[in-house]
Amino acid sequence: MYTRKEKNTSGEKKERTELSELGEFGLIDHLAKNIIPKHAGTVKGIGDDAAVIDTGKNLLLLSTDLLLEGVHFDLTYMPLKHLGYKAAVVNISDIAAMNGIPKQMTVSIAVSNRFSLEAIEELYRGIRMACDKYNIDLVGGDTSSSVSGLLISVTITGEVAREEIVYRNGAKEGDLLCVTGDLGGAYAGLLILEREKQVYKANPEMQPELTGYDYVLARQLKPEARTDLRNLFKKIGVLPTSMIDISDGLASDTLHLCHQSKTGCRIYEEKIPMDEETKRLALEFNIIPTICALSGGEDYELLFTIKQTDYDKIRNVPEITVIGHITTSGDGQNLITPDGQTVKLTAQGWDAFNKK
Ligand code: ADP
Ligand code: MG
Repeated sequence: MYTRKEKNTSGEKKERTELSELGEFGLIDHLAKNIIPKHAGTVKGIGDDAAVIDTGKNLLLLSTDLLLEGVHFDLTYMPLKHLGYKAAVVNISDIAAMNGIPKQMTVSIAVSNRFSLEAIEELYRGIRMACDKYNIDLVGGDTSSSVSGLLISVTITGEVAREEIVYRNGAKEGDLLCVTGDLGGAYAGLLILEREKQVYKANPEMQPELTGYDYVLARQLKPEARTDLRNLFKKIGVLPTSMIDISDGLASDTLHLCHQSKTGCRIYEEKIPMDEETKRLALEFNIIPTICALSGGEDYELLFTIKQTDYDKIRNVPEITVIGHITTSGDGQNLITPDGQTVKLTAQGWDAFNKK
């Protein structure tokens, strides 16, 4: 870590550490150090997709996410209604990752006078659409002005029975590593939108060329949370041993799951499920398709582990793909390429303080 001495206004030397040296996850780990719960009801604090609170009967789940214009979204190609929907969905996804049922949501916004009432109404149309679809009550929030741009902060609660909760830290050696749906589509959609933005900037007369990219654009602009998996798990009689949602990319989120579980893993690259449109687009952009899945993020699919003995229960479920298995932590977290090479998994997903 790079630390240097810096003088403050009274001339004393103070240490200054660059956030870019820590990265987003390093910063969270640093802030979380030595936080000891004061209440017996705090079952799980920092470190999972949602905090877990014991309310007597069931467990209460609590999670929050912050979205900032220019950092997390670009209004030149993100319609406000879609943005509202997505802001809700990214939170709902964290409840799904705990195998929970989403219940209530608060929405806080800060807006500059660049926005009209009609624009904010459009944002809320999207939020309410998601609340209706996922059966969630919008119960509060906060409203503030901002000097520039739009900020959205969503907090969500959920509920789960004690015997049904799934944490990030339950994976065991020999467990199978599985994902839902397909990966990399959201990133492929972003590539298209960014390309069309550059074309528009160069010549505003040009109309965006978005036909033929319906699937990946929907993955980027209107993601869905996999709350359906909870019922599917019940139906087939499987309870994952660990679970996380894929928000930062398969590589980064696998590392989170393995670090929390204190395990290693082997992911077989050719097993990573990808849609044909995503693959075609990646190649169009000269990107190895699996890179979109590993490092792209925002797919909001679920990554989970099951006991090997449960394999027969999931083998014919089209929504679930086995991509690898869990090993001991000493083996590290590895990707096996189609030609049999072992490559160390590295997180190149979203990292808020990365200098690049
Ligand atoms: P997710 O991608 O599932 O939303 P994050 O990577 O944002 O999860 O956060 C990981 C964990 O760190 C969560 O338990 C979250 O509540 C916690 N966390 C993130 N930022 C902070 C912060 N500034 N202070 C305390 N806890 C935080
Ligand atoms: Mg999450």
